[in-house]
Formats: sequence, C-alpha cells, structure tokens
Amino acid sequence: MGVDKAEDLNTFMEGVVARNPGEPEFHQAVHEVAMDIIPYMADKPIYKDLRILERMTEPDRVVSFRVVWEDDKGELRVNRGFRVQQNNAIGPYKGGIRFHPSVNQGVLKFLAFEQVFKNSLTGLPMGGGKGGSNFDPKGRSDREVMRFCQAFMTELHRHIGPDTDVPAGDIGVGSREVGYLFGQYKRLVNRFEGVLTGKALAFGGSHVRTEATGYGAVYMMEEMLSHHNEHLEGRSCLISGSGNVATYCAQKLIENGAKVLTLSDSNGVIYAREGLRQEHIDWVKDLKNGRRGRIEEAAKEFGFNFREGKKPWGYKGELAFPCATQNEINESDARSLIKQGVRAICEGANMPTTPEAIKLFGAQKNVLHAPSKAANAGGVSVSGLEMSQNSLRLQWSESEVNERLRKIMKDIHSECIEHGVQKGGHVDYFKGANIAGFTKVANAMMAYGVM
Ligand code: NDP
Repeated sequence: MGVDKAEDLNTFMEGVVARNPGEPEFHQAVHEVAMDIIPYMADKPIYKDLRILERMTEPDRVVSFRVVWEDDKGELRVNRGFRVQQNNAIGPYKGGIRFHPSVNQGVLKFLAFEQVFKNSLTGLPMGGGKGGSNFDPKGRSDREVMRFCQAFMTELHRHIGPDTDVPAGDIGVGSREVGYLFGQYKRLVNRFEGVLTGKALAFGGSHVRTEATGYGAVYMMEEMLSHHNEHLEGRSCLISGSGNVATYCAQKLIENGAKVLTLSDSNGVIYAREGLRQEHIDWVKDLKNGRRGRIEEAAKEFGFNFREGKKPWGYKGELAFPCATQNEINESDARSLIKQGVRAICEGANMPTTPEAIKLFGAQKNVLHAPSKAANAGGVSVSGLEMSQNSLRLQWSESEVNERLRKIMKDIHSECIEHGVQKGGHVDYFKGANIAGFTKVANAMMAYGVM
C-alpha cells in the first residue's frame, strides 16, 4: 500500500474509532476490510465521493432492549438484547442471534458488518444484520431457556419480518432456541411465516441447514486445495470448538477421508492420535446438544488426550479449521501452526484470527488462508435457501440443497480468485472476498441515490 493510501486508511480508521468508542472488535473488522477496499477505490473516485465505505460502517439501525425473565427459583433476571440492522441494500437484513456472556454492542456490530459482505458473496438477495444477548444458556434448565427466548422475542418481534429482517442461530442458539423463538413470534403475530431460519424440518426448516456452515467450510477447503492441485484425502486436520460448526466440519472431513485430530471447548482441547471417527462425532453432538456437557468427557470416554485451558494450535496439523469464536488464533498460535507446517487455514468461526496472525499467514507464500466471510458463508447460504423454500411453501430434498450449497461455495471461491490473485499466482483470499463482497452492495447503494 502506497503512502497516500496508508494515510487514507489511517484517517478513515480514526473516524471509525471516534464514532464507535470502546468497540475493538468492530474496529478490527472494519480495518480488515478497509485495508483492501481503500486501495481498490483509489481509481474509482465515485465510491469515495459518495462515501460508500463510510456509509457501510454506519448501521442502518441498532435496537437495544431489556429482557426480563424468571428463573426456576422464581427470581427475576434482567439481560440486554440487541439487533443490529447493518445494511439492507441487496435484501432483507439477515444474520444470526448469539446468546453468550461476551455479547455486547461492539461484538454484534462487528458480526453484522462482516455479515453484509458474506451475504453479498453468496449471490443470494440478503442484507446483513446480527443480534443477541449477554444471556448465558450454560447451566440453565430447558424451561429457563424457553422463558428467556420468549421474553427476548416479545420485544424483537416488532423489528423483524420475512421481508424486513430474518434472524437465525449462532453461538448458544441452536435448533432448541430457534424453536422457542419461532413459537413465540408465531403466537405474537398470529402468522406462520419464514421469519427465522434454522427451523426444524417439521415446521419450515431446510434440509442441510444444521450441517451447512461446517460442510461449507470443508467445500471451501476442497476448492482451495484443488485450485492448487491438491486434495483433502489423508490430510491431518485441527478443529477448534465442538458446537454446530465444528462437529459438522469434522463429519464432512472424515467422510472425505481426512484425519481429524482435535476438537475443543472453552475448557480445553481433546487430541485423538489416530483420528476421530464418525461414532465419536455423534457422541460429541449428543454430549453438546443433549446432555450439554464438556469436551473433556469425550477424552474420558474414548481415552483421548485432554489438555486443560489449551487450544488445538500447538499440535501438528496440515489443515486448520478454527470453528469456535473470534480472535482464537493469535500471533503465537500462528507461529506455532506455521512452524508445524500448516498448509491451509479455513475460518469456520467469525473473525477467528487476530490481525497480527493474519499478517503472519499472509507473509507465507505456501499457506492458504480463507477468511470467515467466504469460508463460513455456507450457513447463511442455506438460510437463504430456507427463505426461498418458505416463500414457495415447499421443501427441497437433501441432495438438492447440498448440491446448491456446493455450487455456492464453488462460486464464492471463484469470486475470491477473480479479485484476489496476486502476481506470481498467490491468492489473497481476504482481498478477493472483501472486494467481491463490497462491489455488489456498493453498486446497489449508489443506485438508490443519497440516503
Ligand atoms: P455453538 O454454540 O454451537 O458452539 C460454539 C463452540 O465454540 C463451543 O464448543 C464453545 O465452547 C466454543 N466457544 C465459544 N466461545 C468460546 C470462547 N470464548 N473460547 C473458547 N471456546 C469458545 O456455536 P456455532 O458452532 O454455531 O458457532 C461457532 C462459530 O461459527 C462462531 O464464531 C459463529 O459466529 C460462527 N458461525 C456459525 C454459523 C452457524 O450456522 N451456526 C454460521 C456462520 C458462522 P463452550 O461450550 O465451552 O462455550
């Protein structure tokens, strides 16, 4: 980046930081995009004159609300709920709901901002949004989770709708929570409509939605490898997390003959020297979704190694799939992965890599690195397909949805190549995804005039 562009970036970021104090994750997400988009706009003054990037960093709307609910002891609890409606230039706001104690406005703004680019990349007509609460479902009974979801939706329902804003799940919000949220919405508006995705198959859900983010990340990895004349089969893989994205990522890798060595949660990491088998993944899914236990229990059950408080990145593996949370690969993790010969990183979680780590990976010409906005777009893609099926009032078969998902991930990869190939053939997947995601939204915003 030249001196002028670096100055432009600094000035731009100073404005973003001043307007959004105390929101480091949001600053990080915007910086990551602006680094590519500011140089890209240099010979396209129209974007600059119309302040498109600046407008994209300002959410259309942020709704914050009180959520009061009663726990099993009859005591009242108070949490805060949010919905960030970031941008609806190319379709209704779309993005998940996260229930986790770390949720705050800045975290949701980073996720909503990322979502705008991701949804654009899918090629489907979806704008970007994100919501959630600092509610911690861990250790809460089923009834408590139900009462919380009902209280949360009692306020949220005024702000969403099938043509306005269509939320989905995220960390802490799986099919159980989506069921409670949808049930309450239906009760309040007295209409059965596709206002949430990730619903169960019995009431308007789509085949492959549960699997989509994890499967999509593996399809992305396959595309990256095949572009470089390589394959998945036999490759050793490190996965973090043990929730929805991690388990389906593991499942698809095992199905395709790769060797999955690790899974983790916020307590630590399990390591299976001989590789995890499908029966282990099924057991972990049951542990997490049914009994809501800790990953350490899998180590005890199957004799795997468990390292408390550790992440998977200290182990040797060729392919890394961070599938837990933001900033889970820091500089020292990146150094360790590089030292152990990592070939590719495919981001299942949102923004799992710190800027320092991205820089380190980027400096290695033999390391491929797919950013979350491309690599984990499979989830929202099938959510988009769920919306289409709801509008048509029909349900496509599993193989049909899976084929569409594959095609979308292939197209996303091609878009990254189109805008990200560097001299010498190295692909900057971050740059490719940022530019491809940006142009579609920017062009729609320009068509609407100044608003
Ligand atoms: P789940 O709630 O199903 O699982 C989350 C997993 O990550 C759990 O194993 C959890 O461990 C771990 N985790 C969460 N927070 C932390 C933390 N602070 N430190 C260490 N581990 C942590 O969520 P998902 O699998 O749905 O989501 C995982 C990631 O993928 C998120 O970044 C999400 O935004 C992203 N994503 C999800 C999509 C989806 O379709 N579900 C779509 C696109 C992106 P523990 O139980 O100990 O908290």
